[in-house]
Amino acid sequence: MVGTGIEAFVAGLPKAELHVHHVGSASPAVVAGLAARYEGQTAVPTDPEALAKYFEFTDFAHFIQVYLSVVDLIRDAEDVRTLTYGVAEELGRRNVRYAELTVTPYSSVRRGIPGEAFMEAIEDARKAAEAELGVVLRWCFDIPGEAGLESAEVTERLALDLRPEGLVSFGLGGPEVGVPRPQFQPYFDRARAAGLHSVPHAGEATGPETVWDALRFLGAERIGHGTSSVQDPRLVDYLGEHRIPLEVCPTSNIATRVVERIEDHPIKRMVEAGLFVTVNSDDPPMFGTDIDREYTVAAGLLGLDEGGVAELARQAVRASFLDEAGKRALLGEIDGYLAGWPLRR
Ligand SMILES: [Zn+2]
Repeated sequence: MVGTGIEAFVAGLPKAELHVHHVGSASPAVVAGLAARYEGQTAVPTDPEALAKYFEFTDFAHFIQVYLSVVDLIRDAEDVRTLTYGVAEELGRRNVRYAELTVTPYSSVRRGIPGEAFMEAIEDARKAAEAELGVVLRWCFDIPGEAGLESAEVTERLALDLRPEGLVSFGLGGPEVGVPRPQFQPYFDRARAAGLHSVPHAGEATGPETVWDALRFLGAERIGHGTSSVQDPRLVDYLGEHRIPLEVCPTSNIATRVVERIEDHPIKRMVEAGLFVTVNSDDPPMFGTDIDREYTVAAGLLGLDEGGVAELARQAVRASFLDEAGKRALLGEIDGYLAGWPLRR
């Protein structure tokens, strides 16, 4: 058993992760291994201590710059498979049973990995993770906003023409400042028409207007972050009424400096306003966190006991794109874990 009290409860709690990035989840061991493989051709350090320093960000723009230098280490299909399976192992260690992993195939294809080889690598890792680790992975293919409309076009083509079995949704990430959401509408329209769910990032580094744009122009069914939504009562009403989940990642907001101090994080206001809040980890090793720590942080900010934390985990399952039978099974696991908890102490 790890830690005590809430920490120990969270560690064993079966969980779903809805907002976690593929490259951003690479463990320090995986990143160091890749950096060593490409030593002399990258600024990413191979030494774990230097790597931790390298992952200290001055602001959101600096974070994107560092993130892209890690993206640059994924150069062939074997790197993709190593990365993906490594991410599943990390998730499995935290008792994550189901994860929708945000993947940015555009970056890898730009780096010279053929689309088909990329899909084969992630699908191969997905099947192995499910069979060997009991971790069910699904994909969200996202447009890296900073790469503009060309990346939107390529991402759409990869998603719809080479559609891997595990693909469930279409997203939009990268910086929000200077990257207006409405321009991506045609790509989201086509992805949605093909049956993919819409899950753009919005209202993380910008205000509630970006969340409105994501709803109006991109047909958002869930919002990545959406933390600035609380600034607009009309938006709060809309999100609450339509039960649109928000993927909140508390530590990420501190690491990228969109929220100054954890005690200033709006999660409590969001929950009190009736918003459908889920807790996620975003880019855990880069932000010095993991999903368990995010649940513990959220429990502290929201003043939750074990029952409250279990309900947070149920919300993530309800907000997921898992099929009904899968949802029932995972909700049942959470209920069983909670019911058995007093006996386990
Ligand atoms: Zn994100």
